[in-house]
Amino acid sequence: MFDLKKTILDLIFPIYCLECRQVGAWVCRRCFEDIKSCAKWQENFLDNQHLSQVWSLFDYHQPIIAKILHAYKYEFITDLEKIISDILSQAVLSQDFAKQIKPEFVDLICPVPLSKKRRRWRGFNQSEILAEVVAKSFNLPVSDDILNRKFHTRAQVGLPAKLREINIKGIFQANSFSVLEKRILLVDDVLTTGATMKECARVLKEAGAKEVIGLVFAKG
Ligand SMILES: [Zn+2]
Repeated sequence: MFDLKKTILDLIFPIYCLECRQVGAWVCRRCFEDIKSCAKWQENFLDNQHLSQVWSLFDYHQPIIAKILHAYKYEFITDLEKIISDILSQAVLSQDFAKQIKPEFVDLICPVPLSKKRRRWRGFNQSEILAEVVAKSFNLPVSDDILNRKFHTRAQVGLPAKLREINIKGIFQANSFSVLEKRILLVDDVLTTGATMKECARVLKEAGAKEVIGLVFAKG
């Protein structure tokens, strides 16, 4: 349908490709085709008994990936949701990932929750987009009610590794009834020190989960 408001806005504030500045789209076709998924098993993050595997789909150091995630998270360019969803769909279907993580290995797909305060401020949870893409290709629902954040804590960005662990400790709560004996795919957006993912995995395992596999959009 013709959207007059959008057309006028596009004339006043033309959209540029975040990577090459070509006018017309947030990510032009050529740059979109250049995006490479590099599904990787992040072995370094398996230093405790709670996560059995951790996968990243992209490298945050690939400039276009960093620009897309930054623009989406901090500049609130919500039009990027479709692009993010498209590149994630491709990555989830990529050989490296699809060979290792199959729908029959997973019972529940759970995004890392944001605090209610941050969720309200931001209006969305970027981990939910990845969770939804995976859920669609695995033909499973997103279980966004099995893990809750009890408190609002300061953002992890900028904190050194040790402080991140302290900052996040004890803030999650799992619903034991739902996770008991389940194999859970835990989804987050960016993996930096892994503190958030490890803490979520610990809580899920202590609540009775059989296995927790981590999956992140990008490795920082
Ligand atoms: Zn471009």
